[in-house]
Amino acid sequence: MIKLTDLNEQYLSIKTEIDAAVKKVIDEANFILGPQVRELESGVAKYCECKYAVGVASGTDALLLALIASGIKPGDEVITTPVTFVATTEAIMRCGAVPVFCDIDPKTNNIDPQHIEKKITKKTKAILPVHLYGQPCDIDGIKAAAQKHGLKIIEDCAQSIGTLYKGKKAGSLGDAGCLSFFPAKTLGCYGDGGMIVTNNADIAEKAVLLRNHGSKVKNFLDTHGFNSRLDTLQAAILVVKLKHLDKWIEMRRKNAAIYDKLLSEVKGIEIIPEAPYGRHSYNYYTLKVKAGKEKRDALEKHLIEKGVACGVYYPLALHLQKIYGHLGHKKGDFPVSEKFQDETLSLPLYPELDKDKMGKVVAAISGFLAGS
Ligand SMILES: *Cc1c(COP(=O)(O)O)cnc(C)c1O
Repeated sequence: MIKLTDLNEQYLSIKTEIDAAVKKVIDEANFILGPQVRELESGVAKYCECKYAVGVASGTDALLLALIASGIKPGDEVITTPVTFVATTEAIMRCGAVPVFCDIDPKTNNIDPQHIEKKITKKTKAILPVHLYGQPCDIDGIKAAAQKHGLKIIEDCAQSIGTLYKGKKAGSLGDAGCLSFFPAKTLGCYGDGGMIVTNNADIAEKAVLLRNHGSKVKNFLDTHGFNSRLDTLQAAILVVKLKHLDKWIEMRRKNAAIYDKLLSEVKGIEIIPEAPYGRHSYNYYTLKVKAGKEKRDALEKHLIEKGVACGVYYPLALHLQKIYGHLGHKKGDFPVSEKFQDETLSLPLYPELDKDKMGKVVAAISGFLAGS
């Protein structure tokens, strides 16, 4: 079986360091907001070119707390993409705001700035772009709309730590960036974890309160908060992994280039090129099956039968999900997103994946498409 991502292989390559870091946390028994959390926060802030970083319990919580800390209130509207993991809009809903969908750009599969202005109303308070799979959004276009209407930009960087836009790190491009350390992400821990990065002192300060029951001084409450701290144990693991991150992103990029080359010769497939203004970090390697859903689903089935793990991220765009029925959308509202949901397929990609295995993946794809 060729896995989508091989967490064990990566662990074995850094086992001594990880085991020592974990043991140290257990020996010291400082499990909640221990020193490794601060160490990781300063490391990630520096990595993401931000002044502040606040460790939280998950990427989903990073989004929720960043929205609240940015002043998003019940009834406010937040513009986002329908092609993302549900956590993006879940966070908007959980702070009582309303997700307003905007179609994607067919070149990048990220929110298309040219459609944003049409979505802005008096209630709009923020734009929440997602750098899907690690591909940077067109931030200048998004900023133009945000600045004209005084909107906040909260970046969903759950799939894009290390992504660059015009040389600048994802997470540093708007008012706040939200990272996920879910195991399968480019920088993953051994459980759940997340972080908010920002250059805004006020957002950082509020996030620090929100993650720890709303109190700066224990038992004296400043606001209604959450229990959403990043575990010391996870932070210690991430401190070790952060040192390897740039090398791993380079390995991901090298592997993506190999796929690009091999797949360019396969008919019926469209590769998704890196946006010219940025550096893709390839949390996922994703292609499009031009013939659409039926063929895509059959290819997915075929690959799994051949021992190649693959996945569709995401098979039903969010505006068509029944939980968003109250927003009144119908099929055809966001044609680019709907086409994408039917064509997309993600292949195994991780730093340690070797060329041999990628050759097998591509052979399985071309074998299927040639024979059908
Ligand atoms: C993974 C992910 C999240 C949520 O992160 P968790 O750490 O799993 O809560 C949010 N948005 C996107 C785009 C993601 O891929």
